[in-house]
Amino acid sequence: MSARLPIEIVGGGLAGLALGLALRREGVPVTVFESGDYPRHRVCGEFISGLGDDTAASLGLREFLADAWPHRVVTYHLRGRPLRPIRLPAPALGISRHTLDARLARAFVESGGHLRTHTRADTSLSPDGRVHAAGKRRDGPFWVGLKVHLRNLDLVTDFEIHLGERCYLGLSRVETGAVNACGIFAPQEHAERGFGLLLAYLRTAGLGALAERLRAADPDPGSFCVTAAPLGDRRIAPSGRICIGDACASIPPFTGNGLAMALQGAESAAGPLLAYCSRDSSWGEAAREVASAQRARFSRRLMAASLIHPFFLGTWQQSCLAAFINSRIVPFGALYSVLR
Ligand SMILES: Cc1cc2nc3c(=O)[nH]c(=O)nc-3n(C[C@H](O)[C@H](O)[C@H](O)COP(=O)(O)OP(=O)(O)OC[C@H]3O[C@@H](n4cnc5c(N)ncnc54)[C@H](O)[C@@H]3O)c2cc1C
Repeated sequence: MSARLPIEIVGGGLAGLALGLALRREGVPVTVFESGDYPRHRVCGEFISGLGDDTAASLGLREFLADAWPHRVVTYHLRGRPLRPIRLPAPALGISRHTLDARLARAFVESGGHLRTHTRADTSLSPDGRVHAAGKRRDGPFWVGLKVHLRNLDLVTDFEIHLGERCYLGLSRVETGAVNACGIFAPQEHAERGFGLLLAYLRTAGLGALAERLRAADPDPGSFCVTAAPLGDRRIAPSGRICIGDACASIPPFTGNGLAMALQGAESAAGPLLAYCSRDSSWGEAAREVASAQRARFSRRLMAASLIHPFFLGTWQQSCLAAFINSRIVPFGALYSVLR
């Protein structure tokens, strides 16, 4: 049997590492280029919704998710007022990126993968054998994403979503028992830095009581991070190149489905790439197959999420959302089921 063709992956986030690991298990020589390092905190709600056990199993990831915090109920709050709790159709997983990305990176290296950290690759180049998994595309609109881990914070249910003026923030328990506070906000000027910046954003958004609640808890200063957060981009990347995760398309954060999509994108790409590496198909054929599999898998949920997202950010839309939730008119359990 001739040696398998090598694969390069640009971006060692969840999508890139999961794909790299799956290909290594099939004996493919894989190099992952990652501009950062591990472990590190990322701006992320760290709440994985819509990941089927079949995907975790086919990528060999069950062991890495085994200690994730199981979430079954979400409670929305409109400007501090709790709404009717919603039972999720299937448990979601709470796990920190600090832990999960580092676990995958270690497993990738142990499997013989070549991980080049602190190495930024040129994403404009796309030779055969290169997969793009470098995260969000660079054309906005971008909001501000803030995240911090807190201890000694009691929650109404293990997952709360707070709606404020042009913002929403999730409080989600993760595997360590800490609570991850992560939100997106319309950009503003604030003099505060670090945790104080998150509190300033909350106060400006009419969530002063929530800010006081967080202030009384114990923040982990090392976990604070901030980023330019995309609101989602439902355009699936064109099929000339192989793109997975946010580099393919990004779903609005409220869904808690971006991480599941990153893993499902890796799952969809693994088979066609293996055929290419075994010389059973050309690079062009593999690229077309990956793009069409992702289009079939993701288009409906990207469309649904982009229609619902404005209800999380506009003032009157948030009031409608709250009324829908409390009146039981909208079957939220069924809506979450669309995101699979
Ligand atoms: C505020 C916010 C909250 C969110 N909350 C959730 C949530 O609760 N649940 C959920 O499922 N999803 C959530 N998401 C979405 C989720 O974070 C993404 O969908 C997910 O991280 C995509 O994974 P990825 O591997 O494609 O990209 P990333 O995780 O972004 O990884 C890309 C990697 O590529 C590296 N990189 C970038 N450019 C280069 C380059 N040129 N060369 C080398 N390396 C490069 C980066 O350093 C990074 O490590 C949230 C997003 C935001 C903005």
